[in-house]
Amino acid sequence: MTLTGEHARQYANTLKGNTYMNKIVVKFGGSSLASASQIRKAVDIIRADPDRRYVVCSAPGKRSGDDIKVTDLLYACYDKAAAGDDFAPVLEQIRVRFAQIVEELGVSFDVDGEIEVMRAHLQAKPDRDYMASRGEYLNSKIIAAYLGFPFVDAADYVTFYADGAYNAQETTHKLSAALADKDYAVVPGFYGALPNGDIHTFSRGGSDLTGSIVALAVGASLYENWTDVSGMLAADPRLVDDPHTIEHITYKELRELSYMGASVLHEDAVFPVRTAGIPINIRNTNAPADVGTMIVPTIPDDIKKRVVTGVAGKKGFSSIQIEKSMMNAQSGFLVRVLDIIAAHGVPFEHCPTGIDTISVIVETEAFRNRREAILREIHERLHPDMVILENGLAMIAVVGQGMVSYKGVAAKIFGAVADAGINIRMIDQGSSELNIIIGVEEADYEKAIRSIYKAVEKLM
Ligand code: ADP
Ligand code: ASP
Ligand code: MG
Repeated sequence: MTLTGEHARQYANTLKGNTYMNKIVVKFGGSSLASASQIRKAVDIIRADPDRRYVVCSAPGKRSGDDIKVTDLLYACYDKAAAGDDFAPVLEQIRVRFAQIVEELGVSFDVDGEIEVMRAHLQAKPDRDYMASRGEYLNSKIIAAYLGFPFVDAADYVTFYADGAYNAQETTHKLSAALADKDYAVVPGFYGALPNGDIHTFSRGGSDLTGSIVALAVGASLYENWTDVSGMLAADPRLVDDPHTIEHITYKELRELSYMGASVLHEDAVFPVRTAGIPINIRNTNAPADVGTMIVPTIPDDIKKRVVTGVAGKKGFSSIQIEKSMMNAQSGFLVRVLDIIAAHGVPFEHCPTGIDTISVIVETEAFRNRREAILREIHERLHPDMVILENGLAMIAVVGQGMVSYKGVAAKIFGAVADAGINIRMIDQGSSELNIIIGVEEADYEKAIRSIYKAVEKLM
């Protein structure tokens, strides 16, 4: 079955039991809105279907390989202001980016007035998140004016708790009410506000999350995420030549792959829509006829089932290996190890165990500043025979729902890695059998990804 936009819509309807008016939420990423000509492509896409009602915009991204994203300019501008340095040249670069867009679109919009508000803010009391958010704020206001849609500021509806955690309940409630009487709207991605009204952002790439949040709030039939590739690829195109496009993927598989480094969609973006079963369709603004990838609760029966869905990975992990004889006889040893690490605010990623050994894999970046304190506490509280710390690890995940019922995927993976002369440092298989994760040295990462992809390609 080939999946067209119409198929996607019909499929979305069967999922939701909808026979009434469709509501599609569209999110355009930075490269899709990097310039006036890119914005025109996005607007053509929106206008091509009256069901595309709610538009979530990113800040202008890179126009070419060596360009700078507006969000990065905004962070640089904040850094200058916070350090008491002259921020005017960077602010001018930002002004020029928006002035060019406004001029080329021929829309009436007071860029200079907005820039003066930012200048006054920077002179008074610069705030990092406020500055970062201005890229999506201005771009969305300009695009709303160009489309003739109302602008709905995320700061008034997307809510965070005082500690910065996202407040899903309040946001959905407020945003649903705000959009209920609007047939069309433009909402800036990436940010919201704390209870005291201060602007707060999601992590980088967070406009994907806003799109998902809006889709849930309006009860969308479909969430289209428009970017610069024709869908989720089965491996990072920078490492593997011409990986195939995944036509269908489940929320769970997508989450595993994006968490493990397939960066096309923010790793948390599936959460809001997942509860409502709203499918996400990743599409290419530069090739709108391509069907892209459908992210769905379950793979429809008439679609060919694959064993392996994709391969992803990332570098930057450390392993803390703890040895103690008769560890297996001490109940609660593992709990105490994890407790020490958690008390220092370091999340653990994997935890393969042996009879008298435990390894805890953590992100090196999160672990770095707490390392001495954690190791000291492990020695003092657990009296291990030995603790070995290793940096420079990369994790690779092979993900696929079909692996549950297929024998021999692990053998293929390990065989391929061994044939490539690569030493496997860690193996972990989730109990759901949705993934197999291996750890290798960073120097072997690219080679390992390529050999694994080749080994499982026929199962895709
Ligand atoms: P946007 O600006 O639209 O949010 P992103 O840069 O965040 O876009 O995400 C799209 C990019 O993700 C692609 O250009 C591609 O380089 C990268 N990418 C990494 N892994 C994958 C993958 N497995 N499939 C598709 N794209 C990937
Ligand atoms: N503009 C923000 C970033 O560059 C958010 C986003 O694009 O999703 O990270
Ligand atoms: Mg992105």
